[in-house]
Formats: sequence, C-alpha cells, structure tokens
Amino acid sequence: MGATQASPARSTEVYVGLPGGASRRLAGGLREVRIWKIRGERLKNRSDWWETVAWRSSHARFPPLLKRTLMARLRLNYTNTVFLVSAHLLAAFAILYLSVIHFSWWSVGLGVVWLALCGLSITGGYHRLFAHPTYKAAWPVRLFHLLFGAASAQNSALKWSADHRDHHARTDQEEDPYNAQRGFWWSHIGWVLFDADSEPDFHRVGDLARDPLVRFQHSHYTWLAILFGAAVPAAIGLSWGDPLGALLCAGFLRLVLQWHATFSINSFAHQIGTQPYSRATSARDSWITALLTFGEGYHNFHHRFQADYRNGVRWYHFDPTKWFVWGLSKVGLARDLRRMPRQAIERARADVSG
Ligand SMILES: [Zn+2]
Ligand SMILES: [Zn+2]
Repeated sequence: MGATQASPARSTEVYVGLPGGASRRLAGGLREVRIWKIRGERLKNRSDWWETVAWRSSHARFPPLLKRTLMARLRLNYTNTVFLVSAHLLAAFAILYLSVIHFSWWSVGLGVVWLALCGLSITGGYHRLFAHPTYKAAWPVRLFHLLFGAASAQNSALKWSADHRDHHARTDQEEDPYNAQRGFWWSHIGWVLFDADSEPDFHRVGDLARDPLVRFQHSHYTWLAILFGAAVPAAIGLSWGDPLGALLCAGFLRLVLQWHATFSINSFAHQIGTQPYSRATSARDSWITALLTFGEGYHNFHHRFQADYRNGVRWYHFDPTKWFVWGLSKVGLARDLRRMPRQAIERARADVSG
C-alpha cells in the first residue's frame, strides 16, 4: 500500500488492512491490524482481506469459537483440505461398500493389520523414535517406521518431528503448531486445514537429517505414501479378488480412523483427564485417550518426561507402543530404551499433589 495510504480523515467506505508496519502481534496469538476506510480502494490481496476479517471479527458479536477462528487470520490450505475431505468421503464409501456391495473378511482383516502397522509407525516411530529419541533402533525398524509412517499421510518424519518438537518447546503458546489454547477443533484438525502463521523450525531436527533413511523418506514422501498407503494394499487384495475392498478398508477407512486417533492426542489429550505429574501445560493423562491411540493418552506424563520411551509408566497402563518397543529390544532390534528414574517420577507426583 505504501504511498497510497490514506489518513483516517479521508475515511469513508471500504475496510482495508495495511500490510507491513500497520499491524502488531498481541498476546495469545492474536494480531491487531489497524484499518483505514478508503473510498474506492480495492483490497490488495488475500492477506489484506484476512487481516480485515480478523480485525472486524475481533469487534463483532460472534460466538467465541468462530471469533477465535476468524481472528487467527487463517488461510485455508486447499491441498490438505481437498485431500482430507476426499479421504473422509472414501472412508464413508468403504462402509457402504462393505455393507451393501461386497463384504470380505480378508479385506477387513487387512485394514486391521494396516491400522496396527501404520499406527505403531506413528506412535513408536515418528513420535517415540524420531521426534523424541527415547530409544535406538536397527535400520530395518527405522525403515519400517518410515514406510508405514508415509502410508499414514501425516507428512515426512522430518516435518512431523519438527512440528512436534515445536509443540513440546512451546506448548500452549503461539508457536505451538497445534496449540490447544486455540480451542478443541483447532488442535484436532484446524491446524491441518489452515496454513500456519510460521513454518516449522527445521533447526530442531538437525540430528534426524543426518540419517540417510530419514532424508530418503523426506525426499520421496508423496510416492511412498501412495505406494504403501494405497497401491500395496490394493495389490494384496488382488490375491482374494477384492482389490477395491482392500484399498477402501486398508487405504481410506484405516487412514481416516488413524488420523483421528493421532489428532486426538493433540485435542482430547490436552482437554480431558488428570494432571498427576505437571500442571505447567494443558497435557493430561487419560486411559480413554490411551485406548484410542496405542498408549499415547498418558500425555501429562509424556509432556513432563518426554525422554522416557513409555507414556503409560505403570505396568498396567494400556500402552501397546511401549510393549512393542520393549519387544523389539528383546529380539535385538532396539536398544538403549530410556526410562526416567523412579525417584524423579515420584518427586514430580509429590510436587503436584503437595
Ligand atoms: Zn511428544
Ligand atoms: Zn501434547
């Protein structure tokens, strides 16, 4: 806008947000944008438009959720949105296909197996191996996590870990990519549908970038996702004459279920449950969330002791991921499993309850 800036004195009709020095950041992730009314001035670009919407919504009587959403100055990520909506429609079609067109236990079974493989690759691989190096794994295990992690369509391990390390470093703050303080829906799925204000900090994942397998997966992520998320299940389904059923069950229905399980860790696990180890963040422990997420629901413990390979720290806590990692260590495929000292854990509990 620059030289064409109008003074408030000339104001008449159209709201225009001024880019550059005309805005400033406020606490809580909000952005204040000064608006001038300029006769006949057209909105310069989408950014101006969003800033205008943000400013106007901050002064309007909208319901709080809508207000927060608009004020966040969001830009829809069309690629992610089209992909997510299409996958949900195909998952719904998968249920229709099984109900009225063709039912095959083989295809359903493949869906369950793929859900387990992909789920463990996110929880035991992307999360507890790459984002937090809580144990060391042999290359076949890393490759397994990277291939089925790609099939989970949640970005490359490098990008996922960069986002996740930002989440831990800045929990509940503006820089937290799935900041629970922006509301349930933002932390669940909004952060995927809308572009972030800032890019993830890849400086935090320099250690991972040294792994050639991680670099390979990052460079070929899209093709690996299509191959292991759709083509391989469909090819396996050919062996019992139901490639479409296998694709729908192990591809899309599995994908959508798995997405919402992962998203639950950012939404439900920051909203419901107890806080036995720390009240410094919104993270909570809940066995219900743990059931849905292969053990990731003990999220209060995890935020307090992120270097521990366990999330459910008691032996009876439902944490299939910790049992999987422990099992890998027993057959020589994983080592150096990190556990926080019992005294430190008990001290944290005592500090909270005391
Ligand atoms: Zn984590
Ligand atoms: Zn968290």
